[in-house]
Amino acid sequence: MKLARFTQNGSTRIGKVVGDHVVDLTPVVGDLSMRQVIADLAALSAAIKAFEGTSYPLSSVRLEIPVDDPQKFLAIGMNYAKHAEEARQAGITIPTSQMWFNKQVSCLNAPFDPVVKPKDSDKVDYEIELGLVIGKQCRHVTREQARSVIAGYMIVNDVSARDWLPKSPTFTLGKSFDTHGPVGPWITTDDEIADPLDLEMKLWVNGELRQNARTNDMIYDIYDQIAYLTTVMTLMPGDIIATGTPSGIGAPKGIFLQPGDDMRLSIQGLGEIACTVVAEDHA
Ligand code: MN
Repeated sequence: MKLARFTQNGSTRIGKVVGDHVVDLTPVVGDLSMRQVIADLAALSAAIKAFEGTSYPLSSVRLEIPVDDPQKFLAIGMNYAKHAEEARQAGITIPTSQMWFNKQVSCLNAPFDPVVKPKDSDKVDYEIELGLVIGKQCRHVTREQARSVIAGYMIVNDVSARDWLPKSPTFTLGKSFDTHGPVGPWITTDDEIADPLDLEMKLWVNGELRQNARTNDMIYDIYDQIAYLTTVMTLMPGDIIATGTPSGIGAPKGIFLQPGDDMRLSIQGLGEIACTVVAEDHA
């Protein structure tokens, strides 16, 4: 299933995407939030799959942040070998274990909404990442169990203000400007993805292919990530985990995003998200 939040005729609802339409799931899920739907997915999924009701062309609705009220938005740094090397060349020390930081949930952004270039940053950069949406409250999850706590996947653009990364030890400020967490376009449930460890991912800026990799290039794969994180903390339904970006970011070339730039991001099986960069004063 592809679970979306969409706004049509002034009201925001949960739907399932089928082809180029979104089916309004209100008769099935009522007023549950996406976080609640995710938490209850095992019980709801048969009814959601079977449901046939009112649908709207995707082109006629606004797609919203798929899960808009997560408790956590965690991200791992330097988790693709070639990207770690480009980070090292930029003066960042390569960690010897998984390096986690927070993106504040307030930076979440809808899949086709503009990304703001802040007045106070001249080094805004993109990072395509496979995003996980956690489906179960869990702690001390083994690598072998890890897939069972994943509800689904979405694309994340871990937009980064490179000049703000050094301002806090774990990057949080440089990773958390408002609008710097585009996610979506919807949650593709785990049963639709044969192997999340081998998905093609591509990011274009103004039509130029900048990042082109597969998730099999991760240093710590998504199951290792869940095992490591849950050594420390309880993960909750709806939590979002950004699993690292491959090489091809702008920083090593000294190229940063400017107002008017168009980004497009695609991950195999998950669809596409896209956005235009706008200056803060015009947001
Ligand atoms: Mn990242």
